[in-house]
Amino acid sequence: MRLIIMGPPGAGKGTQAKFIAEHFKIPAISTGDIFRANVTKGTPLGLEAKRYMDAGDYVPDEVTNLMVRNRIDEPDAEPGFLLDGYPRTLSQVEELDGMIKFTGHQLDAVVVLTVDQDEIVSRLLQRAQVEGRADDTEDVIRRRQELYTEQTEPLIEVYRDRGLLVEVDGMGEVDDVTRRVFAALDVIPQS
Ligand code: ADP
Repeated sequence: MRLIIMGPPGAGKGTQAKFIAEHFKIPAISTGDIFRANVTKGTPLGLEAKRYMDAGDYVPDEVTNLMVRNRIDEPDAEPGFLLDGYPRTLSQVEELDGMIKFTGHQLDAVVVLTVDQDEIVSRLLQRAQVEGRADDTEDVIRRRQELYTEQTEPLIEVYRDRGLLVEVDGMGEVDDVTRRVFAALDVIPQS
């Protein structure tokens, strides 16, 4: 099973990704989490990524693509994976296509969580108090939303054209969203 979960910053991708990944017994691979882990450890990748993340900008494609390529080459991702936060640009879509094709597999579905942008800003500001993420200030959140609209939202049409899109209402309680995600995914044949 090879899945992608998409949605604007704060849509709850990470939360839902965990449930989906558990269900299908595949790793949830979050590019944001991998970058943050590298920032914490102070690796060269972390130092490079931090400059962009703190401003709400996208980390350059070459850096992100290589990191994802290495991650999905790990043995635990052999049966499949759920990508959270990747691809985010059209060029990343192409890269991912190449990576998956190389292994002789295919993408099964792209889950998109739809949410209300204003609601999201308050959700993220709340999360800032709990988790203290450096990029959860109002200015940076707006920048992330802007980039999402410009660069990532167009990917929805690409995957819709391929017949892979599964749109799910991401508003409301976590449990309700999870139920909707599963209801929507059950109609997809497993591989
Ligand atoms: P969000 O809640 O904003 O979607 P993430 O945890 O997914 O946050 O990502 C945090 C930051 O990590 C992004 O704002 C960006 O700087 C960087 N990042 C994550 N994934 C990618 C990607 N696929 N391409 C470029 N940058 C990325």
